[in-house]
Amino acid sequence: MLENQLNNLEQIPFAEGYSSPHYHNVIAGPCSAETEKQVRDTAIALCNIGIKVFRAGLWKPRSSPSTFEGVGAKGLKWLIRAKEETGMLIATEVATSEHVKLALDAGVDVLWIGARTTTNPFVTQEIADALNGEKDTIVLVKNPVTPDIELWIGALQRINNAGIKKLGAIHRGFSAYGNHLYRNMPQWRIAIELKRRFPTLPIFSDPSHMGGKRELVPTLSQQALDMGFDGLFIESHCNPCTALSDARQQLSPSELKTMLKSLIIRRTTRSTDNIDNLRQEIDRCDDELVEVLNKRMTISREIGIYKKEHDIKVVQTNRFDEILRKRVNQASQLGMSAKFMEAIMSVIHEESVRQQVDILSRSKDIDQQ
Ligand code: PEP
Ligand code: MN
Repeated sequence: MLENQLNNLEQIPFAEGYSSPHYHNVIAGPCSAETEKQVRDTAIALCNIGIKVFRAGLWKPRSSPSTFEGVGAKGLKWLIRAKEETGMLIATEVATSEHVKLALDAGVDVLWIGARTTTNPFVTQEIADALNGEKDTIVLVKNPVTPDIELWIGALQRINNAGIKKLGAIHRGFSAYGNHLYRNMPQWRIAIELKRRFPTLPIFSDPSHMGGKRELVPTLSQQALDMGFDGLFIESHCNPCTALSDARQQLSPSELKTMLKSLIIRRTTRSTDNIDNLRQEIDRCDDELVEVLNKRMTISREIGIYKKEHDIKVVQTNRFDEILRKRVNQASQLGMSAKFMEAIMSVIHEESVRQQVDILSRSKDIDQQ
């Protein structure tokens, strides 16, 4: 088996490209199953708007032990009744090997592994072991709470190594300390990098846990579709204000319907699209960029040699402040984002420092070779 691979992936039936008005690839349902009535009412309302996969958490990984931690195994029969009544597939979160066994025995169709679980390779491996031999089960793996793509990939591989081929990922954002607009930072580039490395792995976007507030869900959903993700994983409750967990971020089924109808589904480019000229221009710009960066690094290394010969410290913060101020101002005047320029200049400076430190730490013998 090759390392860093996902083997024999098979198509997941509800991840075949976003399509309206049937929403085949929208997984929706309450954060938690609370009562049989709440599960039934929500499932029927979601089925009526065209949802095909119903989610509901039974075992809830909550930060505080004094909050609602789910109804546990007794909710399984509510989910199965909802499945029988509506024909929807049923999805729930599993965090232990016992959950896997209970959910599969009951007839749950889709299992997902939550962000806190993905963070822990021991627990993920236990779940993988429990899934061994269950090769037709659909398993979706959420990103870990920390922005660590290797940990996410490792969890996907553990499940795949257990023989699971109907595998998908869920991008739910990454936690950050302090108050922010988003409950979990999207850090889209991590999910895009996962897509680049595993182009056939379906990736769902979870705008509910990313946004943490229902009003952010439409914009995040649109962004996810625009970035080419394969489906949406959204919390919806028949009466969101009364929800026992994540009340602030859940949409009612009718709000969900309105939102899904408002999403714009853009297509991928075709050979007939006339953007080739612009792409060629972009390629030329990138070419120049690399050349200029190379020139800058060469000069920076020359400065490194001078600093070494004259015992000068590598980092001169005044000089960096000056560079930063000048370029951020220039960018702002051109209508570019100051934040973007600050990030670019910081990365360039970091690389210059790394190269100069490297020169300073080389022994004289190497320099003379
Ligand atoms: C959930 O989907 O209900 C959940 C607990 O999500 P996460 O693992 O992303 O926090
Ligand atoms: Mn939730």
